[in-house]
Amino acid sequence: MGKYKPPKIHKFGKGARKCRRCGSRDAVIQKYGIYLCRQCFRELAPQLGFKKYN
Ligand SMILES: [Zn+2]
Repeated sequence: MGKYKPPKIHKFGKGARKCRRCGSRDAVIQKYGIYLCRQCFRELAPQLGFKKYN
């Protein structure tokens, strides 16, 4: 058979990273190594050099 491809999973449960700003585990963005929840990301994004989200 071919290569086994593991399914992509979104993990926001146990073991999920905490937001490094407010400690929330709610939808923490790990994408760019920033580890911020969506709320904090939206607030800090301009300072981090990200374009506005939404
Ligand atoms: Zn946060």
